[in-house]
Amino acid sequence: MKKSLIMTPGPTYVNEGVREALASEITNPDLDPAFFDYYNETCGKIQQLLNTKNDVLILSGEGILGLEAACASLIEPGDKVLSIDNGIFGNGFADFVKMYGGEVELFKSDYRKAIDVEGLEKFLQQNNNFKVATLVHCETPSGITNPIDIICPMLKKYGIITVVDAVSSIGGEPLKTDAWGIDIVLGGSQKVLSAPPGLTLLSISEDAWDKILNRQTPIAGYYCNLSIWKNWYKEKWFPYTQPISDIYGLRVAVENILEDKAILQRHVKIGEAVRETFIEAGLELYPVDGFSNTVTTVMLPDGIAFKDIFDEMLNTHAVLIAGAFGFLKDKVIRIGHMGENCYEEKLYTALKALDATFTKYGIELKGELHKLFQEKM
Ligand SMILES: *Cc1c(COP(=O)(O)O)cnc(C)c1O
Repeated sequence: MKKSLIMTPGPTYVNEGVREALASEITNPDLDPAFFDYYNETCGKIQQLLNTKNDVLILSGEGILGLEAACASLIEPGDKVLSIDNGIFGNGFADFVKMYGGEVELFKSDYRKAIDVEGLEKFLQQNNNFKVATLVHCETPSGITNPIDIICPMLKKYGIITVVDAVSSIGGEPLKTDAWGIDIVLGGSQKVLSAPPGLTLLSISEDAWDKILNRQTPIAGYYCNLSIWKNWYKEKWFPYTQPISDIYGLRVAVENILEDKAILQRHVKIGEAVRETFIEAGLELYPVDGFSNTVTTVMLPDGIAFKDIFDEMLNTHAVLIAGAFGFLKDKVIRIGHMGENCYEEKLYTALKALDATFTKYGIELKGELHKLFQEKM
């Protein structure tokens, strides 16, 4: 495959240190006592990243596994679940809930805005008999970050277990798991963390463990059953052979983020500069508020097909950008500026290529994208 600059909102660029770690010599992770400690220490580093004292697990499977495992382990047939829906992932969460027999109520809010906090507060005053609530921190397709710092404590006040998909925010947006009362936080290796796809990470609060371990009905399935992990360290036993090489890579990726004290600031600065660039150039952002600092979603200008932009960017400029799926298919362009991709030079290159692509297809802008970007930085 030809090498290109991948500016998609995950998977992101994997740096050399992480790639070297992936190639390290392995041991038998089921039997070598040193690996149990290595896994445990890696979980400790993820706890730092998530600002939590809760248990952390790393599961062998891409981010979606975390969403399904949380639903499979918490939800029993007939349980009432609130799925907060202001985008494709928020809506999709409800499908996992239903798969495990949950009775879903959707709290819908405008797809172009962050979750309507006041509306939700009013809704909860009348309807709060839920065991679990699911929500999404960063709605990656629409480029919106939701105010989970306000919403999760609100849900917790009613004793509702909070499950947050933070796959595309962990490391790139502030996340205070314990301070905000988040029972389960879900992450993936291939977004801001900038390790290859293949791992889920999650944190589980005491309240969530209590629900998982005290069910009326057994948990269906094995890979999605979190209860089998409860005493893994004490018993020095993993439910299945661990993907040791992937965990070596993830460890270095997490350390990189913890050492990078300016990472959140950089995401804010670059996120703002990318958005201002598009606006000043006369393009329209998809979100009207709640702008994400890890991904920007911009409306496709009239008179051009997404496929043409995508192909020209890749074939002529060797820059890989994303569109979106579901109802946003062929309507938007997405640029990821998360983790290893959140650097001025990379955005400059990507925007210069996008500018040339628009010019080629006769789309007139009020300024050159890369130059506008440089002015904002
Ligand atoms: C990337 C992502 C996931 C994982 O989904 P894939 O489509 O399999 O990559 C889950 N939730 C969110 C919010 C994501 O951005």
